[in-house]
This record gives sequence, structure tokens and C-alpha cells, in this order.
Amino acid sequence: MPLTHQLVPERPFTLQTLPTEGKQFHPDRAAAESEFKSLRKEFIEYQRRLYAEGKQKLLIVLQAMDAGGKDGTIRNILKGVNPQGVRVESFKVPSKRELAHDFLWRIHKVVPAKGMIGVFNRSHYEDVLVVRVHDIVPEAVWRPRYEQINQFEKLLHDTGTRILKFYLHISLNEQKERFQARLDELDKNWKFSLEDLEKRKFWPNYMAAYEEMLQQCTTPWAPWHVIPANQKWYRNLTIMRTIVHTLREMNPQYPEAEDNLDQVVIE
Ligand code: AMP
Ligand code: MG
Repeated sequence: MPLTHQLVPERPFTLQTLPTEGKQFHPDRAAAESEFKSLRKEFIEYQRRLYAEGKQKLLIVLQAMDAGGKDGTIRNILKGVNPQGVRVESFKVPSKRELAHDFLWRIHKVVPAKGMIGVFNRSHYEDVLVVRVHDIVPEAVWRPRYEQINQFEKLLHDTGTRILKFYLHISLNEQKERFQARLDELDKNWKFSLEDLEKRKFWPNYMAAYEEMLQQCTTPWAPWHVIPANQKWYRNLTIMRTIVHTLREMNPQYPEAEDNLDQVVIE
């Protein structure tokens, strides 16, 4: 199963040339949805084994522009998974207490433990994205963070964590349509914020920040996957494929049962 959208360390690219349309990679939505469902069954079984084995850890990082589909991805990917074995963390504007520490402090506290799957809805990458675009700290502070992040992820990797990083790549026009739906549909109103429109004005700056971050932080131990995300069904499928591919490699096993269980009699 080729991982079509995985970046290769040191290989230059421009974000503008990477596709946002998933449908060009898959002709058939119905077939994609049915493959997704069968892969999800496999995922659920692997998650049970990972938890039972209690040795390995999986960290899934999701980054995207507003309305890029992070919430929908989490909802679809984790449906039916045992909630005890997963932990979803959403990173918002840092608190005063968090800002009084280094930027990785709040992240490191919540990385997955043995047997667990951790899902980051936004992450430490905000500290080289929103922070850079809006000049929250000077370049002398954010630029060294690429290397600090790489070393942090190396530490996680070297201590038994597989890291999967997904950038959900949508087009400017797709964002417009999704914002419009948030305005038009009453049950989506709560998701709309005027601040998102302010951020939209900085789209080219964000793309530049994403591009450099993807280049600087694609390492052999934690490469980025740039997912064409305009079609939700393709986004879901390709992320699920990557997760299952990774779990097959991790190959978690149920622990050995105690001897002679078949002779146990419960009084
Ligand atoms: P949402 O994901 O819509 O709930 O929004 C969370 C907001 O928190 C986004 O606007 C992020 O850009 C912002 N955010 C997350 N992490 C940071 C950070 N480290 N510094 C500044 N803003 C952040
Ligand atoms: Mg938002």
C-alpha cells in the first residue's frame, strides 16, 4: 500500500503544487467509503491489541487551516474505537501558566503512554504557524523551534512512539465554502468565528509558514503527510490507510496467556 502523500526528508517542494483535490487520486467515492469502513474494523482490532500489549505508543498529529477538517477527521477515524485506549488533546491559545513555560511543556505532559493512541487536534506546530504569522514572538524565538521540535519528536520516537503527522490541505475556495456552510446552517453556527475571517486574510502567510514547517520538520523518524482534503471521503480514506499501514508495521500482539487456562475451574 503506497503512502502517496508522505513527504521525503530533504526533497524540496512547494505547497502550491501539492494537490488539495482528492478525487483525482480515487475515481469512486462509494468504493472509497466501503474501503474506509473495512479499514476502520482493522484499526479497531489493532487498537485492542496495542492496548492489551501495553508496550508501544502511537501519536497522531492533525494540523490544518480553520475548517480544514480536523474535527471531522477525529470523529470519523475514532468512531467505534475503545475510548479507554485513546486520548484526544485539543490545543487552544496557551494559558498564562502555559506561556510561563517553554512551548513544549504543555505538549510533553500529554503524549501517549504505553499502549495508548494519542490524537493531537493542533499541536506544538502552532508555535511555528499562528505564532509566526501574527508575530506573537520574534523570529529569533520561533526559528530555533524547528530543530527543537525535531529533537523532541526524536526523543518520543526513540522511546517507543510512532508519530504520524497529517496536514489537511484544503484550498482557499474550499475554506470559503465551509465557512459559508457554518453561516448558513444553524447547527454549524457555533463553529463560526469572526476571528477565522481575520486569519483567512493571512492565507498566503500561513501557506508560507506551513511550507517551511513541512520542509524543516519532515524527518526520517516523523515525516509529514500532506493530505488532499477538499473531499472529506478521500481525506478520511487516505488517513485511515496510513494509520492501518503503520499499525500493521507495529504489529502489536496480545500478551501470552497464563499456562493451562483450559484447566482452570471456577468454583
Ligand atoms: P479552534 O481549533 O477553532 O478551537 O481554535 C483554537 C485556536 O487556538 C486557534 O486559533 C489556534 O491558532 C490557537 N492556538 C493554538 N495553539 C496556539 C499557540 N501555541 N499560540 C497561539 N495560538 C494558538
Ligand atoms: Mg476554529
